[in-house]
Amino acid sequence: MLESITENLTNAIGNITRGKLSEGNIREGMGEVRKALLEADVNYDVAKAFCDRVTEQAVGDKVLKSLKPGEQIVGIVYNELVNLMGPVDHSIAIRRGETSIIMMCGLQGAGKTTTCGKLAKMLMAEGAKPMLVAADLQRPAAIEQLKVIGEQVGVPVYWEEASSSTPVKVCQNAKKAAKQQDCNVIILDTAGRLHIDDSLMKELIQIDNKLMPNQVLLVCDAMTGQDAVNSAKAFNDALELDGVILTKLDGDTRGGAALSVKAVTGVPIKFAGMGEKLDLLEPFHPDRMAQRILGQGDIATLLETAQRHMDADELEAQQKKMLEGKFDLNDFMKAMGQIQKMGSMKSIMKLIPGMGQLSQAMDAMEGMDPDKDIKRVKAMISSMTEDERRNPEKIDRSRRNRIATGSGADPAEINDLLKQFKDMSGMMQQMAGMGMGDRMKAMRE
Ligand code: GDP
Repeated sequence: MLESITENLTNAIGNITRGKLSEGNIREGMGEVRKALLEADVNYDVAKAFCDRVTEQAVGDKVLKSLKPGEQIVGIVYNELVNLMGPVDHSIAIRRGETSIIMMCGLQGAGKTTTCGKLAKMLMAEGAKPMLVAADLQRPAAIEQLKVIGEQVGVPVYWEEASSSTPVKVCQNAKKAAKQQDCNVIILDTAGRLHIDDSLMKELIQIDNKLMPNQVLLVCDAMTGQDAVNSAKAFNDALELDGVILTKLDGDTRGGAALSVKAVTGVPIKFAGMGEKLDLLEPFHPDRMAQRILGQGDIATLLETAQRHMDADELEAQQKKMLEGKFDLNDFMKAMGQIQKMGSMKSIMKLIPGMGQLSQAMDAMEGMDPDKDIKRVKAMISSMTEDERRNPEKIDRSRRNRIATGSGADPAEINDLLKQFKDMSGMMQQMAGMGMGDRMKAMRE
């Protein structure tokens, strides 16, 4: 995600800061910044106001006469990006002793039902006992979908026959059922439509008035750009939203919705959907997003992901080998398995500062099917002698042909593997340089 905005924005800022810094040059260069934002589908007024604010600060004497004006300008852009998307309060107020109510709204297809499940899972991990409520009586399939998701997450789902109930009744009865089943939070999966219409809004306002939810959250699809922002505005006018959950940020989004929602509606993005799986909901951090947009990686998320999926002791052992120059193909095989658990290679590399721009290494990872690849890699490495595994540089043409025959691979694949090993070693070295193991340990303690 966000590749083109990162590239266009960093180029535009680079052009400003590389040249001679003067008020005229900055004003001219900011035109490029604005273009980069508009190409990313940022709302026009938001892009304009953003550039005006940056320009106003950048052309002042304080910056121009400072020691490193270029760095200062990047700092101003970063701060303004953070301000554009924040501040965010991620808390979901769960009230002790009573049933908390979270009302989820959104257009059809935005990812509402999936996100209800993700949110339930997240709340469970925090010690809450959620119940999902099928308040969408328009589409029988929606009730079935919620039941399936409830089962996957392991939470009860309250539902009633659509023909003999109303959305408000379902929600009210769900509140009673939650008490009986000892659940302390109910998540209302309300109806969606392809477009906003009056009857949908009326139905939602009725639920809002009768149930008085603690939080009203809107689920928006990041891929729909300004349409998502416009729908957020309409929902907020009707319901006073507490937050937005932006889904499909893992997809090929240009970034416009993420950058515009808060500025247009005043409602912050609280969480982001990062994939279809039910554990892929993350708190939305404006500072991390700004770092990613500026191509500076996102160490905090990398550490958190690593901590969730990797064994810190194992990582430390590998790092040690790395630093001692002893990281070999045996370790490579292990590391591949560990990194595979964290997600796609490409998505991880983007989190590493400076790696996002290393397009060659990125391309090498493109199109990897981790499960299949790991099996093949294992077969190839198993056909090597212990000496070759420890010293891959010894693998010459004839050894390569022998390994290829032994593992049923093509000699070119052996070359690819050795290249991947080199790339991975570089990546591990970066991680080691950042003290990944130490930081992960610190987080654990
Ligand atoms: P609803 O109509 O708003 O309830 O939407 P659904 O929950 O049925 O989701 C619509 C589609 O979007 C489904 O295929 C989901 O798997 C998918 N989806 C939901 N959230 C995400 C996300 O964060 N990332 C990706 N890639 N897909 C998502």
